[in-house]
Amino acid sequence: MSIAAPALEPGATIGILGSGQLARMLALAAARLGFKCHIFAPDRDSPAFDVVRASTRADYDDEPALARFAENVDIVTYEFENVPAETAALLASRVPVLPDPKVLAITQDRIAEKDFIAALGIGTTAYAAVGTAVELAAALERIGRPAVLKTRRFGYDGKGQATIAKDGAVDTAWQAMAGQPSILEAFVPFAREVSVVAARAGDGSVECFDVTENEHRDHILKVSRVPAAVTEATALEARRIAETIAQRFGYVGVLAVEMFVLTDGALLVNEIAPRVHNSGHWTLDGASVSQFEQHIRAVAGWPLAKPIRKGRIEMINLIGEEVDDYRKWLTVPGAAVHLYGKTALRPGRKMGHVTRLFAD
Ligand code: AMP
Repeated sequence: MSIAAPALEPGATIGILGSGQLARMLALAAARLGFKCHIFAPDRDSPAFDVVRASTRADYDDEPALARFAENVDIVTYEFENVPAETAALLASRVPVLPDPKVLAITQDRIAEKDFIAALGIGTTAYAAVGTAVELAAALERIGRPAVLKTRRFGYDGKGQATIAKDGAVDTAWQAMAGQPSILEAFVPFAREVSVVAARAGDGSVECFDVTENEHRDHILKVSRVPAAVTEATALEARRIAETIAQRFGYVGVLAVEMFVLTDGALLVNEIAPRVHNSGHWTLDGASVSQFEQHIRAVAGWPLAKPIRKGRIEMINLIGEEVDDYRKWLTVPGAAVHLYGKTALRPGRKMGHVTRLFAD
């Protein structure tokens, strides 16, 4: 249990664990509301350091550094779900941590997460925990092929994932897991992928952004489109699912729920991100309030804003060398360029994004 969080006054300091682009955009939103931010992260050179008043560069298990950080901030929040449980517990004993770190135990483990979702009566694909090659064979018998094998923890952007095709080799898929506890999922023949970014305040009020349609390339989000091409009934159900999850967690802040839409419009939850999310970046230019500001409002104990979408919008990630396209985008009508200030260019690395608002 975290210490109760007071409503913050402008001028208060928000501590953020993590120093990537999400922390950077959170800090920019916080600054606009008059808050100061203090980043805690082990990285030397990272996007958030450029835009904050204070930063601590230390490992997440550096207890003296964590204790000093806790003394210098009014609340703590985080930009990523893999915050070590001990780090969160140590901070939570000294300063309010929002959202409550208890959600991390669930969202860090794909099995615990799917069990949680299923217990709410919300659909997921068929799944089974797998710890050995023998268990994998048994799970494949039950779930069938094609299937997707994933590590239970620390997977993102397709890392720690292997698809087992109808006649595909099982050994190679199992070897790709490197002996880590894993989950086997039935392959979902989805029509499209969508997400809902939702904010919940401490008073229990919830505001969802419009359902976003997501297109991936090489397992990495490439384009988000709003509104999603789904029926009104599917959109309503997607929002209801996100709201149910936020309420059941007693969540404070922004979370994203990724879902598969089947050909008949039914929804299956793929995963929950207990943080601001790449598929919500369009809100920076396409809505009256951004996901980053909603998160800051929620953790500061401020009322949520009612988001109003400004029109049809797309968000395009600039991945790896695509960052050089920023010049081209600067002159495209309705486009806004966001660069994360990353110096090292690597294939698959998210370097920036563009939002494009359409007049129609
Ligand atoms: P994840 O790491 O779980 O978000 O998965 C990354 C991407 O892989 C998803 O956005 C889907 O495009 C695809 N994927 C993951 N799980 C499945 C599944 N069970 N069936 C079909 N595609 C999947």
